[in-house]
Amino acid sequence: MSLRCNDIKSFEYIGKRVKVRGWVHRLRKQKENTFIVIRDDRGGIIQTIFPSEKTSHITLESSIEINGLLQKDTRAPEGGYEIKGIDLKTFNIAQVDFPIGQYQSAELLLNNRHLALRTRRMIAIAKIRSSTMKFARQWFIENNWMEVTAPIIVKSAVEGGSTLFKLRYFDEDVYLSQSAQLYLEAMIFSLGPVWSLAPSFRAEKSRTIRHLTEFSHLELEAPWVSLEDILRIQEQLISYLIGNIINERFEELNLLRSDISELKGIQTPFDRISYEKAIEILQRNEFRIEDNGKKRIIQWGDDLNIDSERELTKSHSNPIFIIGYPLELKPFYVKEDVQCHGRGLAADMLAPQGFGEITSGGLREDDIMTLTRRIKQEGLDAATYQWYLDLRKYGSVPHGGFGMGIERFIRWITNIEDIKDTVLFPRTISRVSP
Ligand code: ATP
Ligand code: MN
Repeated sequence: MSLRCNDIKSFEYIGKRVKVRGWVHRLRKQKENTFIVIRDDRGGIIQTIFPSEKTSHITLESSIEINGLLQKDTRAPEGGYEIKGIDLKTFNIAQVDFPIGQYQSAELLLNNRHLALRTRRMIAIAKIRSSTMKFARQWFIENNWMEVTAPIIVKSAVEGGSTLFKLRYFDEDVYLSQSAQLYLEAMIFSLGPVWSLAPSFRAEKSRTIRHLTEFSHLELEAPWVSLEDILRIQEQLISYLIGNIINERFEELNLLRSDISELKGIQTPFDRISYEKAIEILQRNEFRIEDNGKKRIIQWGDDLNIDSERELTKSHSNPIFIIGYPLELKPFYVKEDVQCHGRGLAADMLAPQGFGEITSGGLREDDIMTLTRRIKQEGLDAATYQWYLDLRKYGSVPHGGFGMGIERFIRWITNIEDIKDTVLFPRTISRVSP
């Protein structure tokens, strides 16, 4: 039986015959002996040694099966286990021009992402992604949220028209979904707390290190919640994810970031900072933004961008919530704070050490008159929101939720600079292949 490397690396197999299938990850041919590091189909590796006359045809990334005796050799990498090869079977001899080697430009790696998936770095990222999705689902199951799916092909914008992808749908124009939110809102009336994980699409026209045009969007929505409830749900989910991912993916996190103690130190509750206070802090630091090609000090009413978020979070070791944004900075559905006119009951969570926004959420306007007015004010076509307005006509309830980009979360916990490296096949304005 063919085993994976991690299962083989155990005392009980020492001196016994073992079999591994995989690819030639590293190859060092010497006169007498050849060292082949084989990589299995879960990214585990183990060193094998063969007499060189048996390996003359072997190339990097060839697919092989080896059969040999497991021995302990302290010089062997990854735990000091080595297989003394007896038989070597090949499935395919790889061409010698495998484009990925030790040092490569970011561009070459992106152009060859289908092959770069075999690097230890990408394997680590893929495993952390998988754990993130697994533990998110597990948290929702444990806390009795219902998983749902919403349509991707939609008629109405959620986040503003400038980032909509339009598409021809038989005889009409439709869009790719920017968020499942409006549909999740419709579901809470009969299904209660619901959540979904689906791709969202945004035609982000500028190149940034934190925007993709297609990202994995985790969203939830629940009836009868307060803003504070929504913040607590986020604190719980985030700490649950981080605790479990550190546990399950300790090695992978260590491979990607130099220091995981920062992550271990994360504690709830996260600070709540009002938008007003955030602007004050930035002004105190004379933080400047671009305005019509000129630099000026940030002022009340300006949105927070990647730079201001970096400034606000760079000396924090915990995430922070920015709450109470001016309504004009937020989409039409954000509920106004009746205690504080003009302010939205909305909050963004900013990850610490400069990372910035990873979630956005809050309460949704549940009054039909106000919502109708807001839709008009924003110049949106009321007809396409008719069904959404119905939700306020028939048994409206206070409700809210939030959304988190999985890639933003992973970028933060892995300390990866460019969001393109947090997804296996990134989509941006300048990249749709591979
Ligand atoms: P930003 O201000 O950073 O552009 P946003 O406020 O437009 O983001 P939201 O509409 O609040 O984004 O979306 C909810 C969450 O989805 C964000 O907090 C972020 O985690 C994620 N997200 C949004 N846009 C993108 C994108 N283009 N690429 C990756 N993740 C995204
Ligand atoms: Mn946002």
